[in-house]
Amino acid sequence: MTQGRPPLNRRLAEFGTTIFAEMSALAVRTGSINLGQGFPDTDGPEEIREAAVRALRAGHGNQYPPGPGVPELRTAIADHQQRRYGLALDPDTEVLVTAGATEAIAAALLALLEPGDEVIALEPYYDSYAACIAMAGGSRVPVTLHPDATTGTYRLDLDELRAAVTPRTRLILLNTPHNPTGTVLTREELGAIAALACERDLLVVTDEVYEHLVFEGEHLPLAGFPGMRERTVTIGSAGKTYSFTGWKVGWVTSTQELVTAVRTVKQYLTYVSAGPFQYAVAEALRLPDAYFDNFRADLRRKRDLLGDGLRAAGFRVYQPQGTYFITTDIAPFGEKDAYAFCRALPERCGVVAIPNSVFYDDPVAGRSQVRFTFCKRDDVLHEAVNRLQRLASWA
Ligand code: PMP
Ligand code: GLN
Repeated sequence: MTQGRPPLNRRLAEFGTTIFAEMSALAVRTGSINLGQGFPDTDGPEEIREAAVRALRAGHGNQYPPGPGVPELRTAIADHQQRRYGLALDPDTEVLVTAGATEAIAAALLALLEPGDEVIALEPYYDSYAACIAMAGGSRVPVTLHPDATTGTYRLDLDELRAAVTPRTRLILLNTPHNPTGTVLTREELGAIAALACERDLLVVTDEVYEHLVFEGEHLPLAGFPGMRERTVTIGSAGKTYSFTGWKVGWVTSTQELVTAVRTVKQYLTYVSAGPFQYAVAEALRLPDAYFDNFRADLRRKRDLLGDGLRAAGFRVYQPQGTYFITTDIAPFGEKDAYAFCRALPERCGVVAIPNSVFYDDPVAGRSQVRFTFCKRDDVLHEAVNRLQRLASWA
């Protein structure tokens, strides 16, 4: 403390170590299987890794790349949006490469918010949303996704969303497919969100990093809905789709005006990053459809493997339609505190998971929910499932 003040400013006082860092450290310390932090234990395609090596050797990107990203990658992002979704973008003015989606989220919120602006985010929300809203001096307004007993999935209540909008609302921070619940918003839901944004003149920042990890339904980019092109900032990332989470290559696509605003902040955060990897990701975005289809099919199988194992171990399982996470409820074990449960899980059975409770403002809604990732090798998932069966006998 100097001047009687703690080092961390007031806006961020509620934030400590991220739950992902905490739980990954717990996994290392206890030698547990880490089904907490979402990162694959198998690297992405060999040819893409080789493309990065080639770029390094050829001296592509070893010095500062251009601020908005290398032209090869910006063009590949624009082509990808056109090919997959029919969205036309100018790679020179409407695409911005960032240090992962994490920087894109931070730069977008720091650019678009004035202190005091309200941001509506779907709860449970990804942890960096809360921190970045706070950094920007905004205030978060959670709209809680509710488990639906009939479908076994989490759903958005559109009336609750509408009711959350106030004259101070600046933007909706959307995430579909949704981490941690695995919810994929439907055409009807997205249409209603779009209509609301237009009616109340709101911006939408939409985090679509799991766009290719959809097992049921389809991913529809919000920017494609009527009236949304001009008011949507779309965020993507290579980390999830190509299994290179350490490369930290992400991007923003939007109108020239909005991209310029985000770039203004981004240039003072990192300026640029990941030079050689940008060239490799440009190649990854052009992989044939078979890559995406196989990756998805493989992950669907892993989802079912882990989901069946969790059910057999006694968890209530909410079936994810997308992402590589499964949210469960520990209530069937007679337990209520997800955080305490996750802290004890290594000792009880040698597995690490994430307590969803930390992604909520509502102290009750997420209290007993725990997230497991299934982006791991089959033998690791089998072993985790075996270990989790021990929970029944512990109780
Ligand atoms: N958004 C969501 C919903 C995420 O789950 C993650 C975690 N990977 C990120 C953003 C961050 O992505 P990146 O690793 O590209 O920074
Ligand atoms: N997105 C990853 C997850 O949800 C974690 C990324 C991180 O550690 N920041 O598990």
